[in-house]
Amino acid sequence: MSTVWMNQLSWLDYQSRIQQDQPPILLPVGALEQHGPHLPLGTDGLLSASVAADAAARVGGLVAPTLSYGYKSQPKCGGGQHFCGTTSVDAATLIGSVRDAVREFARHGVTKLVVVNGHYENQWFLIEGIDLGLRDAGPGTQLEVMRLEYWDFMTPDTLADVFPQGFPGFALEHAAVLETSMMLHYHPSLVRLDLIPDDGPADFPPYDMYPTRTDWVPASGVLSSAKGSSAEKGRLLAQEVAVRIAQAIENGFSPAK
Ligand code: ZN
Ligand code: MN
Repeated sequence: MSTVWMNQLSWLDYQSRIQQDQPPILLPVGALEQHGPHLPLGTDGLLSASVAADAAARVGGLVAPTLSYGYKSQPKCGGGQHFCGTTSVDAATLIGSVRDAVREFARHGVTKLVVVNGHYENQWFLIEGIDLGLRDAGPGTQLEVMRLEYWDFMTPDTLADVFPQGFPGFALEHAAVLETSMMLHYHPSLVRLDLIPDDGPADFPPYDMYPTRTDWVPASGVLSSAKGSSAEKGRLLAQEVAVRIAQAIENGFSPAK
């Protein structure tokens, strides 16, 4: 009974949890996307699931299996679609997956669903999936949905500690200090510190081109340096994010009717 992972419960155990406790259900969303030579392709989903599990443990929640394929990688925040291994879905596919998940959780009698996004490019398609899923569930549904990007729970004070030279911004933080440090905290055996590249921060013009200009993107796929990453920085970030997401879950939903 102590697991936070929904897929480890029988349907009867899950049903009684829903009927007795109304636990929040956390749905991590990620991507299968290059993260430089030093991080695994599944970094975005691994981190959103780890953060979701930490937050769920604090609020008595359950974590649903991660939606592991994300919307298409963009040069300015994920490196782009030209890297081998980056495996993305069309917007309609992602919207449909989220829509179906929302409708199904509503059918189970879930009242609190938290969509925990770990891949920048997913954002608007998650919003659309939630909107259509709630429309499918109908006006009588008891389900409310919270949607978040986990990095928005990092405070300026913590970011100042983690980036003594100044924070480059979340878009350029692809496969860089934030994700590498959090992976060192949660999944150290999957990080190859010896392979962190030396590329400077990517310098993009204020417009996009299609087909994308692959030569705008550092060949390593890293958009700003991951040097200076550490498990201790990862622990600070992860703990802050888990505590503050847990607070949001406690405070953000309507009181039980
Ligand atoms: Zn990432
Ligand atoms: Mn990503």
